[in-house]
Amino acid sequence: MGEQIRTGKRRLGVMGGTFDPVHHGHLVAASEVAHRFGLDEVVFVPTGQPWQKSHKEVSAAEDRYLMTVIATAENPQFSVSRIDIDRPGATYTSDTLRELRALNPEAELFFITGADALAQILSWRNADELFSLAHFIGVTRPGHPLADPGLPGGKASLIEVPALAISSSDCRERVSRGDPVWYLVPDGVVRYISKRGLYRTPDGPQS
Ligand code: ATP
Ligand code: MG
Repeated sequence: MGEQIRTGKRRLGVMGGTFDPVHHGHLVAASEVAHRFGLDEVVFVPTGQPWQKSHKEVSAAEDRYLMTVIATAENPQFSVSRIDIDRPGATYTSDTLRELRALNPEAELFFITGADALAQILSWRNADELFSLAHFIGVTRPGHPLADPGLPGGKASLIEVPALAISSSDCRERVSRGDPVWYLVPDGVVRYISKRGLYRTPDGPQS
């Protein structure tokens, strides 16, 4: 695969998400892309508080950030960045990538996204700018067809990753119903959700 040719630059993966909560689907996607593309590191970037939604609908940025730290702490290749939660206003992928570029001028960026999110990103933002900032890697996700939404040649890759039919929405609904989320999210995240009482009431953060 051409993507695996090393250029000598540090290869930095970027995994953006709401991570409300982070689950094994996110972790497998990041791990598989890191392996297949020879990445040196994958930085998870929890989004800021979505301005379109009321604050009730998404858990506090600090809780989402801490769950992501807990989930990734044991993997020496994984890290978590606060850039999106510390930047005021809406989170746009172009801002995230521009900031990561400035912080890591020597690195080549690889933006990792599930099939569902990839199609949306392309429809929302100036695709030309995004593709000049990073190589895009779309990964398969059960229930979401991985179709090429008009990606410029050489600027994006679509790859198959082990299928985990897990979503944060489903995890939140399970917790609010009193159903277990063991083995859907890392053990430390199960304990953090319980300690903080996240997702417990139907009026709390929901899909
Ligand atoms: P929600 O249900 O709240 O939208 P989610 O499970 O989709 O949560 P996000 O934080 O929205 O999680 O997703 C972050 C990124 O991870 C997106 O690019 C998304 O497509 C990808 N992703 C999420 N779950 C999976 C999965 N099970 N397999 C592959 N990719 C996934
Ligand atoms: Mg999602």
